[in-house]
Amino acid sequence: MNYKKFFAVSLLTGALFSTSLLTGLYTPTTQAAEFVTTGKVIAVNSVSAAPSITKTLPNIKILATGGTIAGSSASNTDTTGYKAGSLGVDTLINAVPEMKSVANVSGEQIANVGSPDITNEILLKLAKRVNELLTRNDVDGIVITHGTDTLEETAYFLNLVTKSDKPVVVVGSMRPATAISADGPFNLYNAVKVAADKQSIGKGVLVMLNDRIGAARYITKTNTTAVDTFKSPEQGYLGAVVGDKVYYYNEPTRKHTTSTPFDISKLDKLPQVDVLYEYENNGRCLYDAAVTAGAKGIVVAGSGDGSLSSASEAGAIDAGKKGVLIVRSTRVGSGTVAPSSGDAKNNFVSSDSLNPQKSRILLMLALTLTNDVNKIQTFFNEY
Ligand code: ASP
Repeated sequence: MNYKKFFAVSLLTGALFSTSLLTGLYTPTTQAAEFVTTGKVIAVNSVSAAPSITKTLPNIKILATGGTIAGSSASNTDTTGYKAGSLGVDTLINAVPEMKSVANVSGEQIANVGSPDITNEILLKLAKRVNELLTRNDVDGIVITHGTDTLEETAYFLNLVTKSDKPVVVVGSMRPATAISADGPFNLYNAVKVAADKQSIGKGVLVMLNDRIGAARYITKTNTTAVDTFKSPEQGYLGAVVGDKVYYYNEPTRKHTTSTPFDISKLDKLPQVDVLYEYENNGRCLYDAAVTAGAKGIVVAGSGDGSLSSASEAGAIDAGKKGVLIVRSTRVGSGTVAPSSGDAKNNFVSSDSLNPQKSRILLMLALTLTNDVNKIQTFFNEY
């Protein structure tokens, strides 16, 4: 079936069809299921047709990047073997016609990949588009659909480089669109609700899953498959969507968006930063390999309070002598890595409460501005 035919079928069968498709109620033996499982007719890099505009409603753009929220499988009980990044943005939007009562919604496809394949190039393309769109008077907020595996990294990157107070909400799902009780459609509806709500202005980039609103700075994925995987272990959520209303209880205290110095508008690449993991009997060979491969920064997922074995510390100190910036983070999953008096002389920085993957994001951006270890430490203390 080609795209035009699929779209005609969609129009004929209407909203019920679309909703059923994404909530898994649709029988997999029909033509539409063929569309989902073959994945041949998906519009990638498309801009959706101009929607009808209701002047009293806010205008929200949905930028799609793939992930499980756009994932499909031949089986509606498959929640692990599906293909992430299968459905196009128009299919996601058409599946939740209820969004039309909340906002004027239109979509753009930025990428359609599983989130482990989000590259620095995709990050820069996405961030530039977010900044372009938010300068426009006819855009009030942005929702980004994304795979959950690296969602927190993209959300934190945008939290540091978006130059607007308008709401930006990153959303994903843990079950693919074809699953029984797929969580994507409701998460997307809630994300549009949060982006359309004036209370969300100026709160930095937000993450919406499982009815909770998280701050990009604090939220992390904590469970491989559970629907309630996104948590902020020490800092908590900012709010929630309950019974169709948006509630906020907390504010992010770290600087974000318009209060950071990071400007990606003229960048077409980011400095190479690698993450190395600490473990018993660890040696220095991966530090040497990272330096040889051209790393400008190394984040250590240290044990405990950002500790390194004597052997890996020797490798890290030698990397530091060559100008490579080393961030001591932790593999523990929560808590703050305390500064150490020996840090600066070795070109080391402590990560505060940033986990290794978010430390990598901040270090890449820091290195676009400076190599000064003390300055970079202040970034980690403030952002
Ligand atoms: N592997 C998927 C991804 O990150 C998982 C998900 O989206 O939940 O794209």
